[in-house]
Amino acid sequence: MSQIFENCRSKGACDYKFDEEYYEDIIYNNFAKDVQVNTEIYEPVVQNVEDHATKNIHKFQSKVKKDNASLIFDETSLKEAKVLGQVDCKFIAAIMKKRSGAKEAGEYLILFDQHAVSERIRLERNLADYLNEEQWVSVEVENIILKMSNDQILYLHNYKDKFTQLGLQWTINDKEVNVHSIPEAILGKNPREVEKVIKAVRNLIIEEINIMKLQKGCLSFYPKSIMDLVFSEACRYAIKFGDQLSKNDCIELLNALSNCKTPFQCAHGRPVMAVIMDIKVENRDYKINMTKLKKFKRVQ
Ligand SMILES: [Zn+2]
Repeated sequence: MSQIFENCRSKGACDYKFDEEYYEDIIYNNFAKDVQVNTEIYEPVVQNVEDHATKNIHKFQSKVKKDNASLIFDETSLKEAKVLGQVDCKFIAAIMKKRSGAKEAGEYLILFDQHAVSERIRLERNLADYLNEEQWVSVEVENIILKMSNDQILYLHNYKDKFTQLGLQWTINDKEVNVHSIPEAILGKNPREVEKVIKAVRNLIIEEINIMKLQKGCLSFYPKSIMDLVFSEACRYAIKFGDQLSKNDCIELLNALSNCKTPFQCAHGRPVMAVIMDIKVENRDYKINMTKLKKFKRVQ
């Protein structure tokens, strides 16, 4: 009886009624014959195989450490990456070279997290739209009326230039602040709900005043109240796990990623890729054993 059939029966791998003859005669026997014939005809000659035997384990481990330390990729590695395609509607598989100038050249099989890649691209594109050199791009809005304390109004008044850098414009009526321009990043590409916008504007003013108090009048150019919205927008509209991508989509994504300023981290700072394995450049020559081939021909 074939091993496949024995396994199926003893391990209860399949529940349906077995066709004993089918398993015995066709699948296993043909498979076994093919394997035998092929291994007899093709004799592999593998060169440069490293000795990974136990006695060399320490040497091997320190080599792995050293290899990983020099495992550095750059935009060129990304630009020249050979895209293999999508895996499991989650990852983009590609072969990537170490950056030029690395001690030894090497190629690696890489899996990119498709969500993280898309998120990073969106983040940088959106930021490029939201920032204009030293200033956050400002958009006019219907008046947002905020009630603020005297202290806060004083800060708004004294540091008007700095708040303008953030894209805020307002007029003050008694204790009310009429905000008529806000950073576009707070509004978003697909405008957010009014309450969220009002809350974000208020948070931005309070956050910056607190920072100014701590840092003697210096403001934060990337305040949390804006950046959290920018990050979550990039995440929300990015490609998700489960989205199907064609090979072309994958190529375009990696190409766009290579143009990013920080291509190896997602919007939240997590790595966008994982190195799966080192692809050794080995000369794997196969030569045909003519004597056995001739014998095989005669049998046919
Ligand atoms: Zn995300």
